[in-house]
Amino acid sequence: MQAWLKRELPDHVQQQLQHWQALIDHEPDFVTRVARAKQDFKNHNKSTNATFKIVRETLKQMCSGNRRCGYCEDSCADEIEHIYPKDYYPERTFVWENYLYICGRCNKGKNNRFAIFDAITGELIQITSQPPAGNSVLIDPRIENPMLFLELDLQDTYMFLAKTELSERDSYRAHYTIDALKLNLRDELLEARKNAYISFRDRVIAHLQDRDDPTLATRVENRIKSLKGLNNLTVWREMQRQSDLIPELKLLFTQAPEALTW
Ligand SMILES: [Zn+2]
Repeated sequence: MQAWLKRELPDHVQQQLQHWQALIDHEPDFVTRVARAKQDFKNHNKSTNATFKIVRETLKQMCSGNRRCGYCEDSCADEIEHIYPKDYYPERTFVWENYLYICGRCNKGKNNRFAIFDAITGELIQITSQPPAGNSVLIDPRIENPMLFLELDLQDTYMFLAKTELSERDSYRAHYTIDALKLNLRDELLEARKNAYISFRDRVIAHLQDRDDPTLATRVENRIKSLKGLNNLTVWREMQRQSDLIPELKLLFTQAPEALTW
């Protein structure tokens, strides 16, 4: 699960989204607003729609790696996800900050699962109908860095874990997010993270072999530049973060401290 870059839409695209949103917001009650949200999003979210072409292009630029899914970071992102589901939050249907670009499998897996901490009581509420005011339990990667809540086990399981020093509430959020997005339940994701670890590690090893040879300067430069286009970039960020904790990484990063800034 990646942290998302901040990026704005061009003014005319933002205005079009706001116009569509206002039409939903003017409907008289929640049920009608939800029905209109679903219908209008379906109508406008098409590859031929000029506004959504720019929305998708901008989301694509914000994805990590080669247009990877914002949740699993492994599959290609091709569906627009509403972080706050439009079935419960029709007022966020055409809100730019509520969009992520994710893969079909993650979209299907999460579906409408959503919970909040009630704004007044702080109580956890699973949302199944019109929600009271409250904050998302699911980590919102458009405004929060998931790495502040999660860490990856790089030595054995390649599963996401809740960070140990979190408050009770943040720890719950971490566990809820791992569970809701099924980040540890798909064997192929664990395998992909393990392979990514090996690939990033071998990249640093190759860098060490080449970096002092001036005739290989271009190769060295390209190897560093292309790293950001690889899948599962969170694995690399975690390798940098745990560089002092894992003997293999400690050795590597001591020899190539410059790799801590790649
Ligand atoms: Zn995915």
